[in-house]
Amino acid sequence: MSLIEQYPLHFYNSLSKQKEVFKPLVEGRVGMYVCGPTVYSDVHLGNVRTFLSFDIIFRYLKFLGYKVRYVRNITDVGHLVGDADEGEDKIAKKARLEAIEPMEVVQKYTNGFHDVMQIFNIQPPSIEPTATGHLIEQIEFIKKIIDNGFAYEKDGSVYFNVRKYNDTHQYGELSGRNIDDMISNTRALTGQDQKSDPLDFALWKKAEAGHLMHWPSPWGQGFPGWHLECSAMSTKYLGETFDIHGGGMDLKFPHHEAEIAQNKGCSHHGGANYWIHGNMLTVNGRKMAKSEGNGFTPEELITGNHKLLERGYSPMTVRFFMLQSHYASTLDFSNEALQAAEKGCKRLMASFQLIEKLAPAGTGKISEEKSSELKNIVNQALLDLSDDFNTAKAIASLFEISSKINIYYQNPAELTEIDSDTFEYVINMFKSIIADVLGLVAENESSGNNHLLDGTVQLLINLRKEAKFSKNYALSDKIRDDLKTVGIQLKDEKGGETSYTID
Ligand SMILES: [Zn+2]
Repeated sequence: MSLIEQYPLHFYNSLSKQKEVFKPLVEGRVGMYVCGPTVYSDVHLGNVRTFLSFDIIFRYLKFLGYKVRYVRNITDVGHLVGDADEGEDKIAKKARLEAIEPMEVVQKYTNGFHDVMQIFNIQPPSIEPTATGHLIEQIEFIKKIIDNGFAYEKDGSVYFNVRKYNDTHQYGELSGRNIDDMISNTRALTGQDQKSDPLDFALWKKAEAGHLMHWPSPWGQGFPGWHLECSAMSTKYLGETFDIHGGGMDLKFPHHEAEIAQNKGCSHHGGANYWIHGNMLTVNGRKMAKSEGNGFTPEELITGNHKLLERGYSPMTVRFFMLQSHYASTLDFSNEALQAAEKGCKRLMASFQLIEKLAPAGTGKISEEKSSELKNIVNQALLDLSDDFNTAKAIASLFEISSKINIYYQNPAELTEIDSDTFEYVINMFKSIIADVLGLVAENESSGNNHLLDGTVQLLINLRKEAKFSKNYALSDKIRDDLKTVGIQLKDEKGGETSYTID
């Protein structure tokens, strides 16, 4: 029996608003699309959590034996300030402010995004398409929607006709909003806006004079609307109907709602059969936001260089911390919670390493009861992962196995009673869940309880960012050597090396 059959996957589908058994379109294969970042600024921790949640889903699907095509896009045009149809393009604005090419902005923050993903051991997707690389597909997509009567051109822009669509479809089926509520919440049209109804959204926007990013189209020079790229690229790589679409909760409306409408307006198919949404981060109970002053970056969290942080926390501590809650729950950051996660992560990884030192199992009188008890714990972890990817519950089972490992180490007689095949199975699963599914790796210990992944320092070097490591970070000799190699001076205090500033 395969793992897929043994541990049938079921999870919450945001579209049907219930937990469903997962049935892929093609047996043994999964197509998954996740909305990627808009690359105009540094990745924030909320992004990290979202992409980590889908990393677990990607990893677990593969662990079960599915062949997965995972598409995660890079938004490099069309996302306007304010997330609606008004205002400047976020990337063009950054390019204007820094007096550089929009594509320099895109490259810089795409590189930064990839570095951060690597530090947190988040696997790259199978395909990472960009919006600017798919303008032809987007223009073709719009033409079909116009042909089907769900969009109209006005003065060089093309808008999706929400009311017309809603006559035969249900706009709001994903977010649970109805069109009357949307009407009362919509601002009146401004003079610059050409759409005939405030509910409508742009598929293509005319480039006004001075607009930095624009391309030719049947409607003149312009650029695609933000929602369009995901419809066009998911269709191109996964088909008009595919298995899973994911993203952060904040994208449900209008972005994902618009995507479904565009897909149906184009091909009469709604795209994904299953929608998964990850939840937000809070800090000490308050929503994490730049305006609240509590929106720290991944680097700040690792280096401890933020007023709300007592010290820095290693990438694996942060990863473990995030996995201790279910992806659909809010997750609250606090120093206490991070410190507890640090201890927990170390305890788990210590038993992971202790396995190598255990005596052989099954050399005495075998206890069927104790053997099956052990096997049941690992089975429970897998049942929990197959139940809406519940990493929090699975980790609790891993801790039970971890305690057993400690007992076997302290008292090898206990291990002689465990059937050797069972023991091998449990250990292999335990290791595989930790390394392959949860993606936890042992971090280099330097002195005391201090550690930093080499990649983290590398990121700071790449970004030429100032990094004040807290005193808890004693840099290892290897990292010191690396820093010297690339010509970065460590600022020493009191002749010693208590403060490390990369200039
Ligand atoms: Zn998207």
